[in-house]
Amino acid sequence: MNHTFQIGTHKVGPGERTTLDLTVPHLYTHTAVSMPVQVINGKRPGPKLFVSAAIHGDEINGIEIIRRLVGLPALRRLRGTLLTVPVVNVYGFVNQSRYLPDRRDLNRSFPGSKTGSLAARLAYLFMEEIVARCTHGVDLHTAAIHRDNLPQIRALVDDPETKRLAQAFGSPVILNSDLRDGSLRQAVADQGIPVLLYEAGEALRFNEFAIRAGVNGIVSVMRELGMLPSRRKKKPRAGPVVARSSSWVRAPQSGILRSLTALGNHVKKGDTMAMVADPFGEKTEAVIAPFSGIVVGRTNLPLVHEGEAIYHLARFGKPETVAEALEAFQLEHSPESSLPLPEEPPIT
Ligand SMILES: [Zn+2]
Repeated sequence: MNHTFQIGTHKVGPGERTTLDLTVPHLYTHTAVSMPVQVINGKRPGPKLFVSAAIHGDEINGIEIIRRLVGLPALRRLRGTLLTVPVVNVYGFVNQSRYLPDRRDLNRSFPGSKTGSLAARLAYLFMEEIVARCTHGVDLHTAAIHRDNLPQIRALVDDPETKRLAQAFGSPVILNSDLRDGSLRQAVADQGIPVLLYEAGEALRFNEFAIRAGVNGIVSVMRELGMLPSRRKKKPRAGPVVARSSSWVRAPQSGILRSLTALGNHVKKGDTMAMVADPFGEKTEAVIAPFSGIVVGRTNLPLVHEGEAIYHLARFGKPETVAEALEAFQLEHSPESSLPLPEEPPIT
């Protein structure tokens, strides 16, 4: 039998589900604010997994991923405990902004402190109340505003347990990242807790494919951890590939951008990826692929200044294999596929 799970003043018995509010600082209007958490405590013991979203307040795909995740009938057979925090940056979310009201980035403020800035205090609360009670974590993000990301996992794949979970997630692209940047992922990894960051879609928009791939990915990770019963073996498909490195392709001049390259495209060194021109089309310059790779991120805004990031290009040993795996992945998670909630009408 599983233990009673304690968080704040709340007790969640085995087989119980509780939604609770973690108190965070008031607004200056005297209005009370809280960070909502749902705890699903399985009847049987197992890992304790947190799934968080909207650390950047305008990145909302993860909120829909969590809504679908906690509605899955399979959770009746949960082993261990699932903690979901759909809106970590409540202040940014209400303002439809990436940042906190003082323009700080919460994902640069971890592990935070009790007496620091508002961002540092939120980060501290999250570390104390959520991370400290968990054995594993998944943090959900999207690209920044006016940008789009191919579904991808970012994780410290030098750690074997993290790598195992990153591969279980099933997104064909994994970026190995070892940044000391004050992110939640960094702070959690520093505690020795395996954590995945899922990046997919764009800010302030829903993306059905990114949402489906996210729900299925978390379910696969939970199966790998033994939190959910494993499924009969599916037909084997190409596994995810860890990128060697990635870099931004930048605007060679300021102007109006005509993109010729989509997310997930495989480009070869020297390919023309886009054109940038002045409004009369008199001064036109091509954006050239600096190396062969897969486009894992891009801007959606066709207005650029010189030096602005246009494409995020990832290097792979065999980019053509990744391109094939991406096609299969796209098919598998298309709204026509039946997983994981056949009755869930797709968001279009
Ligand atoms: Zn983010």
